[in-house]
Amino acid sequence: MNPFRLVRPRSLADAHAVLGADPRGTTIRAGGVDLMDRWKEGIDRPATVLDLRTAAAAEDARALASLSATATSLAVGALVTLDALAETPLPAAFAAVRAAAGQAANPAIRRQATAGGNLLQRPRCWYFRHPDLACLKKGGSRCLAAEGNNRYNAVLGGGPSYIVHPSSLATALVAFDGHAVVQASPGRPKEIPLGEFFVGPTERLDAETVLRPGEILLGVRVSAPAGARSAYDAVRERRLYDWPLVEAAVRLRVEAATLRDVRVVLGQVAPIPWRAREAEAVLEGRRPTPERLAEAARAAFEGARPLSDNHGKIAVGRGLVRRLLHQVTGVPLPA
Ligand SMILES: Cc1cc2nc3c(=O)[nH]c(=O)nc-3n(C[C@H](O)[C@H](O)[C@H](O)COP(=O)(O)OP(=O)(O)OC[C@H]3O[C@@H](n4cnc5c(N)ncnc54)[C@H](O)[C@@H]3O)c2cc1C
Repeated sequence: MNPFRLVRPRSLADAHAVLGADPRGTTIRAGGVDLMDRWKEGIDRPATVLDLRTAAAAEDARALASLSATATSLAVGALVTLDALAETPLPAAFAAVRAAAGQAANPAIRRQATAGGNLLQRPRCWYFRHPDLACLKKGGSRCLAAEGNNRYNAVLGGGPSYIVHPSSLATALVAFDGHAVVQASPGRPKEIPLGEFFVGPTERLDAETVLRPGEILLGVRVSAPAGARSAYDAVRERRLYDWPLVEAAVRLRVEAATLRDVRVVLGQVAPIPWRAREAEAVLEGRRPTPERLAEAARAAFEGARPLSDNHGKIAVGRGLVRRLLHQVTGVPLPA
C-alpha cells in the first residue's frame, strides 16, 4: 500500500473543498469494500482518501444518508448501507431493489457496503483485477478476456472490453425510471437519468459511469407507475461469498389482464445493466400466458454473442427471466 492522507470531512462542503483541490488524486471511501480490494490489487493508489461517511451527519449532507419511499417513489442516499436497504420494508413496487440489496455479497459486507459504493464499484473481471496484467481497461492494448478465460464475461453488448457490470443494485434500479443525483460542487446537484448514468467500454474505459473525478454521488431517485410490481433474483455457482453468474429484475403492472409498463433488466451479462428491450416488446400490452412468458425469456437474450466459455449464461439467464416473469405476474409455472 502506498502512503496516503486520510481526510474525514465534517460536512459536504468540506468534502467538496478536498475534492476540488485535487480531484484526480482524491478517492472517496464509502463502505470501503471495493476500494480496499482495488488498493490491494494495485489498481488504485490514492494520494488522498476522503471518508465520506464522516460528513453524513452534517445539515448539508442529509441526502447522503436518507432513505425514503412512497408507493410510487424511492429515494436512496448514497451512504445507505445495503443492509439498511434490505431490512427496510419498501412498497411492493420496489421489491426488486430490496431483494437485490438483500442478496448481494454476504451479511458482513452488506452491513458495511453502501448503495453508492455498490453502484460505483469497479468490474470483477480477473484480468482487470490482476495486479500484473495490463488489460484494455488498465491501459493495455486488448481485452484479455476476449480470448482468455471468459466464463464470467459479457454475452451482450461487449467489445472492445468484455467486462460485466458488477452491481446487483444497478440491475434492480434500472428496472425503474429514475436519476442519479450528482454534485460537482456545493450548490444545486444535477440529475442524470439512470439510463445514461451507466456507460460501456465504447464510451469510457476508465470508468463504468459518467461520474467524473471530483463529483459526489448523493443518491438515486426512482419512480414506479401506480400498481407496479417488481422482482429480482440471481443465479450463483455458490450460495455465499460469490457474485451472481446471471441476475435479472422485472417490473410491470397488470391492467385488465394485460401487461403494462414492462421492464426487464439483465445483470452480469453486459458491461452495463442491460435493458432486454426485445423481451419487453414481447410482453407489453399482451396477456401473460405461459407461452408468452417463455417467448419473452427467449427474446431477452436475442442478439447475444457468447465468448468461448460463457454460452451457459444464456440458458441460465433465460430460465431466470422466465421464473421471475411467472413470479411477478402470478401465472403458475407449468409443471
Ligand atoms: C465476496 C464478495 C461478494 C460480493 N457479491 C456481490 C453481489 O452479489 N452483488 C454486488 O452488487 N456486489 C457484490 N460484491 C461487491 C460489494 O457489494 C461492493 O464492493 C460494495 O457494495 C461496494 O460498496 P462500498 O460502500 O464498500 O464502496 P467503496 O469501496 O467505498 O467505493 C466503491 C467505489 O465507489 C466510489 N464511491 C463510493 N461512494 C461514492 C459517492 N457517494 N460518490 C462518488 N464516489 C463514490 C469510491 O471512490 C470507489 O471507487 C461482493 C463483494 C465481495 C467481497
